[in-house]
Amino acid sequence: MDHFLYRNGELYAEDVRVSEIAKAVGTPFYLYSSATFRRHFKLFDDALAGMEHLVCFAMKSNSNQAILTLLAKEGAGMDVVSGGEYARAKAAGVPGNRIVFSGVGKTREEMDAALIGGIRQFNVESEPEMIVLNEAALALNVVAPIAIRVNPDVDAKTHEKIATGKSENKFGIPISRAREVYAQAASLTGLKIMGIDVHIGSQLVELEPFEQAYKKVRELTEVLRKDGHEITRLDLGGGLGIPYERSNEAPPLPKEYGALIQDVLGDLGCEIEIEPGRLISGNAGILVSEVIYVKSGEDREFLIIDGAMNDLVRPSMYGAHHDIIPVIEAAPGVEQAKYDIVGPVCESGDTFAKGRNMPPLTAGDLVAFRSAGAYGAVMASEYNSRPLIPEVLVDGDQFAVIRARPTFQDMIDRDTVPSWL
Ligand SMILES: *Cc1c(COP(=O)(O)O)cnc(C)c1O
Repeated sequence: MDHFLYRNGELYAEDVRVSEIAKAVGTPFYLYSSATFRRHFKLFDDALAGMEHLVCFAMKSNSNQAILTLLAKEGAGMDVVSGGEYARAKAAGVPGNRIVFSGVGKTREEMDAALIGGIRQFNVESEPEMIVLNEAALALNVVAPIAIRVNPDVDAKTHEKIATGKSENKFGIPISRAREVYAQAASLTGLKIMGIDVHIGSQLVELEPFEQAYKKVRELTEVLRKDGHEITRLDLGGGLGIPYERSNEAPPLPKEYGALIQDVLGDLGCEIEIEPGRLISGNAGILVSEVIYVKSGEDREFLIIDGAMNDLVRPSMYGAHHDIIPVIEAAPGVEQAKYDIVGPVCESGDTFAKGRNMPPLTAGDLVAFRSAGAYGAVMASEYNSRPLIPEVLVDGDQFAVIRARPTFQDMIDRDTVPSWL
């Protein structure tokens, strides 16, 4: 559920008309709902009630400072995957002891920054990384809290580019070698083992792969405890999917996911961490765009809009579906038209949808892409020298631009022409 609803035939973001924001900031732009962010965070927080837990927002899904600040105020921790994300989390006021550092290629500089600034735990993904982290900690005279990310070899049944828990994926250490690696970690005095980490992929639409993975984590917890390790924390990753196509998708709810965690792991006495990204931010955002032209092709109509693949890359990168709706609701009973919805970028891949049913639209009409709050703005680029589009946050009846659109001059000024030219 989100807070982008029609009222009197017009799309609203909470209590603000989307068309009013479009007039104020120009199109295209991302638009986020504070109430939806808060609601989604709380769904997870409530789902784990009764167990000691921390919900760490996977900020790679949406890392705007305003969003991080909003979620931090709700009590969220952060899951970061780079030095840049760590710096953003700290700048948003998130204390180090609520920041988890994930990622398969952490550099020594990133480790140093987090060790100095404070960190809840590093999720270590390989033995070479473990050795470098140990050196970094010893050099700074601190101890690095760690969990080791295990790869449980489970099929997440999601898009191949976002599956991470199969043995062929680059992530984590094979669970079959976990005892050996934990023994090595225990021998390194710059490290303190806190627990186990697992993350099997993104946009999972069934609970079963989670269940398989978490059962393996349970077994491993028992084995490692017998080996003499203190396992006090389990980081269960993110990955719960959202309904991108509302008419025919109904992924499991956070409540059901939480119940599964309780069931499989609840009696181990471990603190539970989860790292949801998409389910918190995805449906908390839309992308608003304007129709530039309606063009008749040989056998189809093209809706050419001012948003493009550089603004929202998911359709061209993953073949992803986004529901696209008119900002002015169609009159009841109006006959639908079929459109290929495309952007202005010079690539055929700049196609958002083919043969999509929409009410008839004309130049100047506004459309909204649903479920664009996750992996939208953060993956945008300035390809074709199209400036990064603004992000706007609504809260009740107020709204604010939380990242401004750069001018062409801002874009040009980022480059440097060497003096010899
Ligand atoms: C991407 C990622 C997440 C978040 O995944 P979502 O599908 O957005 O919930 C969590 N943890 C790790 C380690 C990730 O790489």
